[in-house]
Amino acid sequence: RFAKELDQNIVIYNDTLDEIVRTETHILHRLKDAIERRTLEIWYQPIRLLQSGCYSSVEALVRLPDGKGGYFSAAQVISLAERNGIVEQLGDYVLSSACSFMKQHGEELGLLRMGINLSVQQLLVGNSAAHIQRLIHDAGVKAEQVTLEITESILIQSIDQAAESLESLRCAGVHIALDDFGVGYSSLNYLSNLPVDIIKIDRSLTRQILTNFKQHTLLKSIVDMASINGLMVVAEGVETEEEQQVIAASGVQYIQGYYYARPMQEEELIRFLR
Ligand code: C2E
Ligand code: MG
Ligand code: MG
Ligand code: MG
Repeated sequence: RFAKELDQNIVIYNDTLDEIVRTETHILHRLKDAIERRTLEIWYQPIRLLQSGCYSSVEALVRLPDGKGGYFSAAQVISLAERNGIVEQLGDYVLSSACSFMKQHGEELGLLRMGINLSVQQLLVGNSAAHIQRLIHDAGVKAEQVTLEITESILIQSIDQAAESLESLRCAGVHIALDDFGVGYSSLNYLSNLPVDIIKIDRSLTRQILTNFKQHTLLKSIVDMASINGLMVVAEGVETEEEQQVIAASGVQYIQGYYYARPMQEEELIRFLR
């Protein structure tokens, strides 16, 4: 990619590039290994319904152990998987594992929906909707118990190819969430035409609402537009009491953030929700 950006046939190969390649090769190796051995972890972050204070859904987040007691960044892992043709495999793993957890513990814990992130590549393969529905069904959960989250900017780029799959998933009962909404350029106009049920406001917007009047106004416009179109709104990345108060006052229905709960391992989530 660096070479392509230079628009010439010279490959600049320095220490930094060398280091990036080595790190990525290492992570990729660990990722493939973790998928094969089924040691790739899924953590869950509770999402709070403000009106009742209930946690009726959680978001599944992939965690790849780094072998030193920590984890690689999920964003980096996903980006690597996408560029190396294994994001469908990773996506299937997450979908099946998260749905199995839902089947095993959902009812007892009062969970109505399991949120699962989807890479747009998973939607662009043939028969994607049927494939996803089959995985959900095989895990023993209903489509109505699943929300699929897709990053707004990426979905918009491929909406023509993805719309059909999204529509058929929605017909089956799956909810679709537009993830990372409000990053960079978002048009509120197309909200009425998109096959989505939920908008997830990105943390980059959430964190600015206390200090930036424009962003606060944008948040209110998003909430209004969502309400007109019958969409639910989740604010991501709420970390403080002040943010929580402003967000709640703006009409957002759901909050996901460190203020209430961080992503946690299965056992901790079970304890938390009980
Ligand atoms: P996302 O879907 O927007 O997930 C929310 C991210 O925000 C998570 O980061 C979560 O840990 C973090 N977060 C939640 N509340 C707070 C807060 O109050 N403060 C801060 N600073 N952060 C908060 P994480 O787990 O690192 O995941 C990053 C991204 O990687 C996700 O963003 C999603 O786009 C992607 N991702 C994670 N797991 C999967 C997966 O299984 N499949 C796919 N395709 N993408 C995934
Ligand atoms: Mg998400
Ligand atoms: Mg998000
Ligand atoms: Mg995000």
